[in-house]
Amino acid sequence: MPDDQGPVMDLFEKTGAYLRGHFRLTSGNHSGEYLQSALVLQYPPFAEQLGRLLAEAFRRAAPEPIQTVAAPALGGLIIGHEAARALGARFLFTERDVTGKMSLRRGFQFTHGETVVVVEDVVTTGGSAREVVEIAQAAGARVLAAGSIIDRSGGAVNIGVPRVALKTLRVATFDPGRCPLCAAGLPVVKPGSRAA
Ligand code: ZN
Repeated sequence: MPDDQGPVMDLFEKTGAYLRGHFRLTSGNHSGEYLQSALVLQYPPFAEQLGRLLAEAFRRAAPEPIQTVAAPALGGLIIGHEAARALGARFLFTERDVTGKMSLRRGFQFTHGETVVVVEDVVTTGGSAREVVEIAQAAGARVLAAGSIIDRSGGAVNIGVPRVALKTLRVATFDPGRCPLCAAGLPVVKPGSRAA
């Protein structure tokens, strides 16, 4: 990462949310860096600040008022809620059922024609955000944009709607069969389950 990281990365560094090691990502790929955004968002003033910045980015990107923020649990819950607060919007979340399928539960509903943005903490492949977009569109909602605190795909993610991110990074990820960290014999950890 460059030295000039800006205020968002400063928050990640300051709270120990920018981890270095050998990580197995949700996608199955490996990486030497991981952004544990929960460690930033555990501090409500930081969560509020990031939510406000994301709301501003959405206002610039979206051509009309945003009625609802939708986020995939768990990663999108706190930042999605803060972005919704800053936008004066409703907030709801999707979650995976026992079969792993992303679903809208708990009585949440999209209404036909409402304007929606999708929020995540960190986007790597965009898979979860894409699933939320599809659920909203299937219900007749209009998804104006999707956004995240961090886009670690270097801007490569395409989920079919305009994207915003407070910080775009290009973090190297490796197929497990071709991972130089595996080749070096470093144990791989799944960061979400890490105690540290
Ligand atoms: Zn590896």
